[in-house]
Amino acid sequence: MIETDEPVAIAPPDLAEYRHGPFGVDFVQHFDSGSPGPHVLVCALVHGNEYCGAVALDQWLRAPPNLRAGRVTAAFVNMAAFGQFTAGDPHASRFLDEDFNRLWTPEVLDGPRSSRELTRARDLRRLVDEADFLLDLHSMQYSSPPLLMCGPLEKGRHLAFALGLPYDVIADAGHRAGRRLRDYGGFGARPARRTPCSSNAVSTGQRTASLSQAPSCGGFSRILA
Ligand SMILES: [Zn+2]
Repeated sequence: MIETDEPVAIAPPDLAEYRHGPFGVDFVQHFDSGSPGPHVLVCALVHGNEYCGAVALDQWLRAPPNLRAGRVTAAFVNMAAFGQFTAGDPHASRFLDEDFNRLWTPEVLDGPRSSRELTRARDLRRLVDEADFLLDLHSMQYSSPPLLMCGPLEKGRHLAFALGLPYDVIADAGHRAGRRLRDYGGFGARPARRTPCSSNAVSTGQRTASLSQAPSCGGFSRILA
């Protein structure tokens, strides 16, 4: 258990209505403008205890703006871990068996191992493969200003600054423990049309939602504009 003195400030959102979607994959919704354009994948709850992004994505889904072009897929990723969330130990529900955000290489995804997170990753992989842009909404375990994690490539830095958000932009190379979703396949290749922008959307995650919803909403409203 990670010690923290920061109380949980908001209740977890009720996401039950999003279970059934058009792809037959639980907790994935889709909007199609009907006009050609990029396919944007917005992910929340890659880590089951970071539900600030889910609150923001829920708000967006309740009143989505008219898309001028392209498509948006919205995925609530680790719902199984999120379902285990308790305010008394908010870090325990980050994942069930292993970190979903360390599985994103073909070797792991096509390999023999099994876990609940790998099953979910394999279910979502086709949608990830089809996406042109990724916005992956996370939150921090401790208080910090809002930030965007753009990855090590020029295309990620370009998108992060093009959003025009007043947040720090962090370029990092990932984790030794395994490849992140934002670095998977074409997202981590240069040059490529696929451009991830991982919004690590604020301070104490689930504990100070009033801070974290705004950057999350602002982040993906800008990226979808
Ligand atoms: Zn996270």
